[in-house]
Amino acid sequence: MYQSIKNTFIDIFDQEPLLVYSPGRINLIGEHTDYNGGFVLPAAIDKKMVVAIAENDSQKARVYSVDFEEEFSFDIYSFSPKIGHWATYVMGVVSQLQQAGYTVKGFDMVFGGDIPVGAGLSSSAALECAVGFALSELFGFDIPKKSLVHYAQKAEHTFAGVQCGIMDQFASAMGKKGFAIRLDCRTLDFDYFPINLGEYKILLVDSQVKHSLADSAYNKRRLECEEGVKAAQQIQADVRDLRDVSIDLLDQLNLDAVVYDRCKFVIEENQRVLDSCELLSKGDLEGFGRKVYQSHQGLSKLYEVSCEELDFLVDFTKEIPEVLGSRMMGGGFGGCTINIVHQDAVEKLQNEILEAYQKKFNKTPKFYIVSPEDGTGFL
Ligand code: ADP
Ligand code: MG
Repeated sequence: MYQSIKNTFIDIFDQEPLLVYSPGRINLIGEHTDYNGGFVLPAAIDKKMVVAIAENDSQKARVYSVDFEEEFSFDIYSFSPKIGHWATYVMGVVSQLQQAGYTVKGFDMVFGGDIPVGAGLSSSAALECAVGFALSELFGFDIPKKSLVHYAQKAEHTFAGVQCGIMDQFASAMGKKGFAIRLDCRTLDFDYFPINLGEYKILLVDSQVKHSLADSAYNKRRLECEEGVKAAQQIQADVRDLRDVSIDLLDQLNLDAVVYDRCKFVIEENQRVLDSCELLSKGDLEGFGRKVYQSHQGLSKLYEVSCEELDFLVDFTKEIPEVLGSRMMGGGFGGCTINIVHQDAVEKLQNEILEAYQKKFNKTPKFYIVSPEDGTGFL
């Protein structure tokens, strides 16, 4: 893949590029907690966005998407968001760097990758981080990775119109082989948390449902969480995020039933991350698996970001003793489930899911076995 992106670059622009990448990510547990100041447990994976880049002595950025087979050029001193188009992520990052005072000059870029798009593996964050790192290295900005994470997130807010939390970009940039990242999304304190699953594998099942409704629903969930926070602040002034709200406090608030459910999920999910880390530290994979199932239950029933297909995939595994846990992953309304499966049962499970899922939904799911890998870097 790197070689073909490099060759495409040389074919189009007739010079040697700098090659960088940034990976997609999984999240073991802790969904929708990041923008509530809570904890998450993501890891970068061995699926990547690859960027080839070089200067071009003009005021133009000329960008070619290998996967969409499409070119897009823009004047680096005059451009605006193009929501729904891949170029918006590139422009969003350029805009953030400019606002931070970096002088971005004209550049040529070719990019592509193997992260399934819209599957909950954060191909958008990988693209943003790869572009940010590529520009930083090309022009010698030497931007620390933590700042890159911030610019990439802001690019998603301002140019893609998605009010995402920090997790996706953080995991893509900061991942480490063999480890998940236990991240406090409020302070950005983090540690690398070893993932020793022994005979178990992480199997992703891609429902092939695209989360097209997700962006508006996502922003709506954020507002519902804020409503809970505002109500809690009336009773306890030092509450900043739902992370600071206990179930006891929540029960004292006079909330709309839907808002109550949303907040309850976030508070419980945040606790599940902390509990999961403790269970994983003790090697209690069964206990961790139960938390994973509970997470899905909450996402589906309280936070209401699942869908029929994802619920089906999770329910299907409940009958199978070799599966310790399963849940939808990412923003919701489609994308992948993450499953903790005994290595001996992976193949059989895939065949069974394939058959049952095709029969019920007339769609063919995809399967990926993933493991924690290094974040943004050079190729
Ligand atoms: P995800 O969950 O994968 O991040 P998003 O909807 O947030 O889904 O982002 C997907 C968008 O990111 C795509 O519609 C496209 O604009 C851009 N993108 C992702 N991967 C690629 C790629 N390989 N080539 C071009 N654009 C991509
Ligand atoms: Mg995304």
